[in-house]
Amino acid sequence: MSNCLFCKIRDGLIPARVVHRDDVCMAFEDINPQAPTHVVFIPLKHIPTVNDIAQEDREAVGHLYTAAAQVAKARGHSEKGYRLVMNCNDDAGQTVFHIHLHLIAGRPMGWPPG
Ligand code: 5GP
Ligand code: ZN
Repeated sequence: MSNCLFCKIRDGLIPARVVHRDDVCMAFEDINPQAPTHVVFIPLKHIPTVNDIAQEDREAVGHLYTAAAQVAKARGHSEKGYRLVMNCNDDAGQTVFHIHLHLIAGRPMGWPPG
């Protein structure tokens, strides 16, 4: 998708602080961090929202979680915990329409979110 911010980051057209990259997904620091750790994991494939995840995408979406858990562990968050969130459309606050898993950690968090 040519006009997608996260595709541009994936392609190196917009700079980002990349923390993970493999053949299925990549991760970078959120530009507006909501916690000491706030990393965004995206599939390399452009998928606009959770509503658009196809059967063939299931492995890639699962891969986001295992990659996020690896980064959380590397940053020492495994024991105290962390939050993984994927927002879908307006009511959830999705602003970038290329699915992404937020890894948020390093402070206590309330539930439910506002
Ligand atoms: P959403 O609200 O769609 O779930 O999350 C989008 C996230 O992307 C937000 O947390 C926002 O701060 C982040 N973001 C928006 N633009 C950029 C950017 O240009 N670079 C990076 N690294 N993050 C961005
Ligand atoms: Zn995209």
